[in-house]
Amino acid sequence: MKYLKAIGVGFGLSQVATLITTVYLHRVLSHKSIQLHPAATMFMRLGTWMLTSISPREWVAVHRKHHNFSDVEGDPHSPHVEGYWKIMLANVYYYRREANNDNTMEKYAADLPFDKLDLALLRRGTLGFSLTGVILAWILGTKAGLVAWTTLAVSYLTLNAAINGAGHTFGEKNFENDATNLKLLALITFGEGLHNNHHARPASPRLSAFDGEIDPAWPVIRGMEKLGLAKVLTKPDVGWDTHRRRLPETVKIRPGDGIDIATVNSSKN
Ligand SMILES: [Zn+2]
Ligand SMILES: [Zn+2]
Repeated sequence: MKYLKAIGVGFGLSQVATLITTVYLHRVLSHKSIQLHPAATMFMRLGTWMLTSISPREWVAVHRKHHNFSDVEGDPHSPHVEGYWKIMLANVYYYRREANNDNTMEKYAADLPFDKLDLALLRRGTLGFSLTGVILAWILGTKAGLVAWTTLAVSYLTLNAAINGAGHTFGEKNFENDATNLKLLALITFGEGLHNNHHARPASPRLSAFDGEIDPAWPVIRGMEKLGLAKVLTKPDVGWDTHRRRLPETVKIRPGDGIDIATVNSSKN
């Protein structure tokens, strides 16, 4: 029972980490579709540091490069270039490989210089994540704390790998691009599973576009807006139906369907 509770705590924390990732790293920093109140920004920065050990600057640069080279040579983590299972099982390796590339950092994250807090503390991501491990061990006991900590890491990494791997391999497409929508994945990734929609309109602050699609981060963002903690900068509702790459109907892509390279090359975004 103790360990079951620990697994629950770890998964719950991975959900908080995933929410911070989609709202702050993705929609606020990478695509600038939302602005946050300084207090909310501080919460998200500390959350990123303690729950993911990610450097926002690196995440943003790798992600922007992914949009620039989706599923062609140069994409940091493409299942079509590297292979599906390599991304599903070793996504973090491909992420680190690109994050260590100084040219990528300079080109894609020039607008995000380190500030004093980054230089003094938040740059050391491993320290933040280790601190979470110590706190969990202190609250839950050493072994249960370790179980919770491991569950957090494994769940978070698996969900991210699924977005980059499965989300470019099978699922549904509303738009002509190389990514896919996975509605169930969207429910446990705060909307990120609606990846085909996202590649169609990267600057949309909401990832759901049509009936039956749920972006669980969207009500959170609207709630934050009501509290004065966030401001949506781009238009969530316009541009889906009239999108130039809107398919006449939703298409299902099964694993192994492959991808038409000519289509990919013409739909880079
Ligand atoms: Zn993608
Ligand atoms: Zn994006």
